[in-house]
Amino acid sequence: MPGMVSSPSAPVLFRAACPRCQARFELSAGSFRLAIGASPRTTFYSFTCPECGSAVRKPAGERIVELLTGGGVRTLRLHSTV
Ligand SMILES: [Zn+2]
Repeated sequence: MPGMVSSPSAPVLFRAACPRCQARFELSAGSFRLAIGASPRTTFYSFTCPECGSAVRKPAGERIVELLTGGGVRTLRLHSTV
């Protein structure tokens, strides 16, 4: 679960951890992709681990979606809202 490192002047960074190599790091908003599906099960965020290069994909709850979109993460909507 990413946490926002808030600082008024610095660019927004999100804490993340890699499930494969266990590395912990901070990534800027541009390193994340957020995909919002029709249900929470199909809503997830993804990033590439800077340590081992693996593509990490994790489910994104409502709070994480808010956090990431608020931080300027690029969002992809997988369904059309009617
Ligand atoms: Zn890794």
